[in-house]
Amino acid sequence: MQSSAHEQVTFFNDPEVGLRAIVAIHSTALGPALGGVRFWHYERDADALTDVLRLSEAMTLKAAVAGLHQGGGKTVVFWDDPHAARDEKFLRSLGRCIDALGGRYLAAEDVGAAPSDMDGIALETPWVTGVDAARGGSGDPSPLTAFGVVCGMRAACDVALGSPDLSGLRVVVQGAGHVGAHLAHLLVDAGARVSVSDVDRRRLAAVATDLPVEIIPPAQTLTTDCDVLAPCALGAVLTPASVGELRCAVVCGAANNQLAGNDAAEALSARGIVYAPDYVVNAGGIINIAQEWAPGGYSYAAARAATAGIEQTTRAVLATAADEDITTARAADELARRRVAAEGGPPYRPGEPCVMRAALLARRRAVA
Ligand code: NAD
Repeated sequence: MQSSAHEQVTFFNDPEVGLRAIVAIHSTALGPALGGVRFWHYERDADALTDVLRLSEAMTLKAAVAGLHQGGGKTVVFWDDPHAARDEKFLRSLGRCIDALGGRYLAAEDVGAAPSDMDGIALETPWVTGVDAARGGSGDPSPLTAFGVVCGMRAACDVALGSPDLSGLRVVVQGAGHVGAHLAHLLVDAGARVSVSDVDRRRLAAVATDLPVEIIPPAQTLTTDCDVLAPCALGAVLTPASVGELRCAVVCGAANNQLAGNDAAEALSARGIVYAPDYVVNAGGIINIAQEWAPGGYSYAAARAATAGIEQTTRAVLATAADEDITTARAADELARRRVAAEGGPPYRPGEPCVMRAALLARRRAVA
């Protein structure tokens, strides 16, 4: 899929509240486009446009490979000061922009956003997910994202090491944030020997006081001898150079965009390191959100059961890579594209019957 294949890209300006935003709808072939709202400082409009086009396309692939009936979209909001507060007028204005798209795009949390932003947007539109659990939303996705990573890790370890059993394996977790901390807990429960690094000492302390984990310096994270490296911090950690230094059999973590480029995927493959593609194994968050439109409303148990499917999806991706002699990253893209081609319909039109729209409207009515 090319960036030129985006269905709709809309610039929104509201000078009265200082809002500038771009919403990109990459594809609604599988259903309304779900994607996060990112608040970020962009030097140039072109940078923001590049970001939103790339991120919205990635959401299409992620939803498709996760088997969801959702398309891919994204919002970027020009936001210069990460510490500045957003007031209700600003969020209402953003909510009206999203509402104007008629439900073709469904907002969610992303970098720089907080649940309070989703609550503010929800004052003007029903087309927003991830609102507070008390208002019928699915709440914090991090625990299920971490669980999905464990499921993907089992599949990758089966292929690389001959068993899905994580007990006794040494796993290095980079980043003890929302996902990394949950992941460390789950891995310790599974009997793994866990090492954790973070640039923020407070985050490390919070994990290490609860759990028998080893702390390693951030600079040694990628070069520590282990069975599995789990990047759960920043993107672009995997470059041909950094891959050359890895001392692991498997890379499987939550961080988005771990590969700096395709050459990093090739380098992993050349070294025989099994890479479980990031958007395949970190899909627990959107699988969790998708449960908001289940008949009867959101249930954590159902979301967890659906997230467990990531083990099977990861197996399918790794098998496709082996069968077709392509990298695992490319195999994931291929499976996603094939699903869109096989099951996708024409672009979704506002007002068309749709399970997720009906669920969001019902929730709106219940809250009102
Ligand atoms: P977070 O901000 O809570 O945690 C990230 C942690 O990484 C922070 O504690 C930070 O201090 C640490 N960090 C930053 N640079 C580091 C470095 N060089 N070495 C070690 N640690 C470093 O974020 P999160 O919600 O836990 O998400 C982690 C990653 O997973 C992100 O890439 C995010 O996009 C991705 N992701 C998260 C979810 C989710 O449900 N939260 C879902 C899908 C993908």
